[in-house]
Amino acid sequence: MSSTGRTDAIAACRDLLSYLQACPTPFHCVEESCRLLEEGGFSRLNEREQWRLEPGKAYYTVRGGGSLLAFRLGLRPPAEAGFNIVGAHTDSPGLRLKPNLAKTGGPYLLLDVEVYGGPILATWTDRDLGLAGRLLVEEDAGGLEARLVRIDLPLCRTSNLAIHLDREVNERGLTVDRHVALPPAVAEWSGGEDPSRVVLNVVAEAAGVERERVRGHDLCLFDLQPPAIGGINGEMIFAARLDDLAMCHSALTALLRTGEPGDSTAVVALFDHEEIGSTTSRGAAGSMLRDVLARLVEAHPGGGGLPTAMAGSMLVSADMAHAVHPNRPDKHDGSHLPLLNGGPVIKTNANQRYATDGETAALFRNLCREASVPVQEFAMRADLRCGSSIGPAAAASLGVRTVDIGNPILSMHSIREVAGSKDPEALNRVLELFLAGCG
Ligand SMILES: [Zn+2]
Repeated sequence: MSSTGRTDAIAACRDLLSYLQACPTPFHCVEESCRLLEEGGFSRLNEREQWRLEPGKAYYTVRGGGSLLAFRLGLRPPAEAGFNIVGAHTDSPGLRLKPNLAKTGGPYLLLDVEVYGGPILATWTDRDLGLAGRLLVEEDAGGLEARLVRIDLPLCRTSNLAIHLDREVNERGLTVDRHVALPPAVAEWSGGEDPSRVVLNVVAEAAGVERERVRGHDLCLFDLQPPAIGGINGEMIFAARLDDLAMCHSALTALLRTGEPGDSTAVVALFDHEEIGSTTSRGAAGSMLRDVLARLVEAHPGGGGLPTAMAGSMLVSADMAHAVHPNRPDKHDGSHLPLLNGGPVIKTNANQRYATDGETAALFRNLCREASVPVQEFAMRADLRCGSSIGPAAAASLGVRTVDIGNPILSMHSIREVAGSKDPEALNRVLELFLAGCG
């Protein structure tokens, strides 16, 4: 790599690290993404209003606080020039708080949590956890306002049993019962006020609102340890939520870099709820992308309908991929072994758990060649069940050609994951070419 290339890679890495740090929840991810888009000259649109769109201009819209669609309209109608869409997801597996926030456990107050998606639960034990999310706050006029909240303090902890009380833990492996062993201790408890109110007081105060005005909440726990560049030569990134905030960041960076409008319309779709199957009002299997694309087609009167536009469009579904594990290469197919810092990975599955096919893989390989970026291939061992992404859900609901790709990581769904530090900049370049209408 040239010294300029190395500087670009480091700059891209630092950008990613600050994005990760700003986004402990999907709501924060959307807020931070909106901030970057506003800085880049994008205008906000409300789904409840009529849109007056101008070709060549850049806009974004938010649904449910956790999903975001941003686009730069092409100079030609989508029915003629198509959409170039990059999709990723804003949510990560972890722990969410129940409606009643706390309960008692002997002399302790415990947060009452539910598991969201499929985290490696053992990695959430013995970690200092903060709390973040959104509160729905009653306004004077009677409506509800969503207010983000973030407590960057070691608020709670799920403690492991001492080795002396669980002698076989290393032989048996650490199993965590979701209902009994998982709820983290947040305070000592000696009776008195309602447990949930104690926690709600703290959360409301952190948000700067009166507790009585808080009418609802969506709250998550998060790893307090900041993201870091690691390894002897700085070749790795150690961080929470790389899956899939690293791809959200890459998609946004690419869109912001495209600057001038091209013929086709560039779209970035960041969806909530991928980790729980995407079938929600703001998930990738829901109506959001279709609803917004339909409006974009209507912005060109007489320019043809959505089906015509979709037939000439392509979706790059960007979600992290499995790098070969340093200690357990036996878990991988020996002829599909993606490496950290080896470039983006095309993910293929014969049963369409990934939406890639021969044609879309070829188109993505061409993009990588054009960007002078190496590309890698992933397929599961034939005797292991494959994961999935937003790709199949969005492809099925839109009928759009789709390729599933992602940068390689280790420890997927652990509270902290590992990525390569040279991969972010490489993928940024590929996605920028794609959104600019190349390939
Ligand atoms: Zn993912």
